[in-house]
Amino acid sequence: MSAAVTGAVHGHHIAGATVAARDRRTLAVEDPSTGDTVAHVARGGAADVDDAVRAARASAHRLRDAAPAERGRALAAGLDGRAEEFARLETLDTGKPLSLARSEVEGCVAYLDYYAGAADKLHGETVPIGPGSLAGTVREPVGVTAHIVPWNAPLSMLCRSVAPALAGGNAAVVKPAEQTPLTALAFAELVEAAFHPDGTFHIVIGLGAEAGHALAAHPGIGSLTFTGSVPTGRAVLRAAAEHITPVVTELGGKSPQIVFADADLDDVAGQVVTGFTANSGQYCDAGSRLLVERTVHDELVELVAGRAAALTLGPGRDDPDLGPLVSAGHRGRVAGYVEAGRAEGAVVARDPQPVPGRGHFLAPVVFTGVTPAMRIAREEIFGPVLTVLPFDDEDHAVGLADATDYGLGTGIHTRDIDRALRVAGRVRAGYVMVNEYFGGGVAVPFGGTGLSGTGRERGLVALDNYLTTRTVVTRVGPHRPRSAP
Ligand code: NAD
Repeated sequence: MSAAVTGAVHGHHIAGATVAARDRRTLAVEDPSTGDTVAHVARGGAADVDDAVRAARASAHRLRDAAPAERGRALAAGLDGRAEEFARLETLDTGKPLSLARSEVEGCVAYLDYYAGAADKLHGETVPIGPGSLAGTVREPVGVTAHIVPWNAPLSMLCRSVAPALAGGNAAVVKPAEQTPLTALAFAELVEAAFHPDGTFHIVIGLGAEAGHALAAHPGIGSLTFTGSVPTGRAVLRAAAEHITPVVTELGGKSPQIVFADADLDDVAGQVVTGFTANSGQYCDAGSRLLVERTVHDELVELVAGRAAALTLGPGRDDPDLGPLVSAGHRGRVAGYVEAGRAEGAVVARDPQPVPGRGHFLAPVVFTGVTPAMRIAREEIFGPVLTVLPFDDEDHAVGLADATDYGLGTGIHTRDIDRALRVAGRVRAGYVMVNEYFGGGVAVPFGGTGLSGTGRERGLVALDNYLTTRTVVTRVGPHRPRSAP
């Protein structure tokens, strides 16, 4: 697909076919590295979503009835051999550095492999309820799963939830972010080629308030996975409530990296810089707050600001350290936070480096002199902006770590394992990383608490999002009267 992207108009992917929006409307897709339009896509609405959900419902039995091992084999097929093509397409669509896009696509292959292997291991249980009865549970697909995906890691976020959904025997309907729909469409072709007969995977492109809302509000879906911002999460939960549709929410974060004075500061500086600048700070678990023991504050700030200032910025295809932000609007929002930080009295540790002339670039900013009450210390900025706050002891560190309404990731850096595990057990976070920021992988559950959402993805636990339990109780032998439960 990548060779044919430029200038093309791409439709939805419904029932194995490419179809235009019912009312023929389209949206422009741009390359954030230049601001140039690279393609047009369908702009779907409620009627298009209804078409996709109906098609998914009509095909849902096919995957449910397929032999589980066969389902797994189909799921694992295809992406590995075309990884470079997908990485280049992702870079075009998001502006992210090619190396980063390659590693995200590698992660997608890992999701597909991992859940492919789980497809024939979705065991129920037998439940001992006494003589005269045989009771057991069967884990079944929910039917049609819906997935509303953000723009920051489009294919990765898609595969993270779609892989367990398909492995569980569901048909899926995906609404990609309107800014970055291209890899989802290419992936649909791949899934269709792997699964026979077709019709298990559908894509409706469109704006959040139109196609996204219609999908969340649709009565025909059995579960919904929403990955995105808190305000949208609230809107999605409200829309899904009408039909009591279960929702997996994977929302934003303001994740701290807590650094104690005994840590290897040189190693930590590298991790802190990667934590807040990877993907230009546009990861939900970006380590965007540095909490550092006061005695090493100045030394660590110097190391971090120096490394951040040495990062290269450029178009993703040139594989710099940092690409652009996703859009002019988002760049403006992040720049607004930088202005707000200065206005509130925070200090920029070192002047940011110059940025390329075209595209939505913003150089990393390290703020010192930050107080917990400042907006830049509490709100998700979703750009390469770090706020640094000093602490005096463990209690102070935990208090600062918990001083936002989010609770996604927390990094802890110390050579003292007792302290590491103590703090890991105290902070409000769904995902704690000791001495390795962004540590983990497909096999370990990921998710948040508080405003970061309630969902858990990755790992075997994620399969529960897409399965329901049927209990069967069978009388064995003559009827035995029993007391009510
Ligand atoms: P967003 O909430 O603006 O959009 C996410 C998706 O929701 C898009 O597909 C959008 O079109 C759709 N949408 C928008 N309005 C809608 C509505 N009213 N009804 C239904 N759908 C609607 O988020 P974004 O700006 O694309 O992504 C950035 C956010 O996502 C950040 O807050 C980030 O932290 C979060 N995120 C979280 C995780 C996680 O795992 N916790 C992962 C990636 C991103």
